[in-house]
Amino acid sequence: MKRSLFKLVLIVLAVGFTVTALAQNTRVKILATGGTIAGAGAAAERAAYTAGKLPIDELLNAVPQIHKLAKITGEQVASIGSQDMSIEVWLKLAKRINEIFAKNEADAIVITHGTDTQEETAYFLDLVVKYNKPVVLVGAMRPATAISADGPKNLLDAVVVAADPKSQGRGVMLAMNERVFDARSVTKTNSTSLETFLSTNFGPVGLIYDQKVQYYYNPVRKPGKDTPYDVSGLTSLPRVDIAYMYADADPTAIEAFVKAGAKGIVFTGVGNGNMNKKNYDAIKAATSKGVVVVRATRTPGGRVTLHDEVDDDALGTVVSDDLNAQKARILLMLALTKTSDKAKVQDMFFQY
Ligand code: GLU
Repeated sequence: MKRSLFKLVLIVLAVGFTVTALAQNTRVKILATGGTIAGAGAAAERAAYTAGKLPIDELLNAVPQIHKLAKITGEQVASIGSQDMSIEVWLKLAKRINEIFAKNEADAIVITHGTDTQEETAYFLDLVVKYNKPVVLVGAMRPATAISADGPKNLLDAVVVAADPKSQGRGVMLAMNERVFDARSVTKTNSTSLETFLSTNFGPVGLIYDQKVQYYYNPVRKPGKDTPYDVSGLTSLPRVDIAYMYADADPTAIEAFVKAGAKGIVFTGVGNGNMNKKNYDAIKAATSKGVVVVRATRTPGGRVTLHDEVDDDALGTVVSDDLNAQKARILLMLALTKTSDKAKVQDMFFQY
C-alpha cells in the first residue's frame, strides 16, 4: 500500500516536472507594437503619458519572471499608440506572424499593443493567420511608469497563455486583467478602467490565476487557417468606412463615403441595425451602385438579424450578425478581396 502510494507520488512529480520543462522549452516570440503597456509618463502618480515610448527590451526587463515560463525573444514591429494602427501595420504583422510559424522560429506569439484598437488587430489576425499556434494580444491601461502599472502582470499572464499547449487551435486571443477573450467577441468597454475588456454577449473563454490558464469555452467560428483570406500578396485592402445612426441622423456620411470611393460601408444602426428614412434612401442608393453595405448595431450587445425590422433583400444589405461595427469593417474589407457578391459576403458573416 505504502509502496503504491510512493509510486503514485513519483509519477505525479515526474508528470509535473515534464509539463513544466515542456512549457519552459516553448519558444514565445513577443512582437511589440507600442501602446500604454510601453507608455512612459513624467510622474508615477499622474495619468498623463505618451504611449509606445519604451522599447521591447525594457518591457521584457520589467518582467524577468517570464524567462522562467518560456524561451522568450522580442521583436519591435512598431512603436505607436494604437489610435495610429493602420492597415499597413496589420499587413506587416500578419505577414511576419505567418513567416515566423512557417519558418518555425517560434511556437507561440504574444503581441504587445495599445488597448484602443487592440480588438481590431486581434480579429484581423484571427482571420488571416494560417497556423493553429497560439497568438495572444496584450496591453495595459496604466503606463509602465505608473504606480501599480498593470502591464508587467498582463505580459506575464499573456506568456502563460501563449506557452500553454491548451491554447493551440483556439484562434487569436486577448489576455488582460486575468481573463482570456476570443478575438471575435472581445471589445473595449471602458476608456480608463483596468476592467475594460469584455465579451458582451458571451464572457471570457478562460481565466488566468497563479500562472495557469483554465479554459471554459471552445471557439466555434472558423479559424484563420480555414478562411479564404490570404494577405501574403496584399499591400492594401478595399476601402470600407463606418457610418453611425442616431435620432434624426443625416445621410451625409454615407453619401460622402460613396463619393470617396468606398467599396463597402458598415452602417452602425440603432437597435437591430435600424435606420431612419433619410439613411434608408442613402443606403439604397449606395447598394444600387454596387457598394456592399453591412448593417451592424450601436448597442453594446446582441446581434443584427436578417429580414426582421429591415427587409435586407429590398435594401440590398448584409447583416453583421454579432460583430460590432469596427470588426464588421475588418471582415468586410477581407471579404471584398474575394467577392462583392452580397449573398457570398453574407455567408462569410455567418461563418467567420
Ligand atoms: N491610446 C493608446 C493606445 O491605444 C493608449 C491606450 C492604451 O494602450 O491603453 O495605444
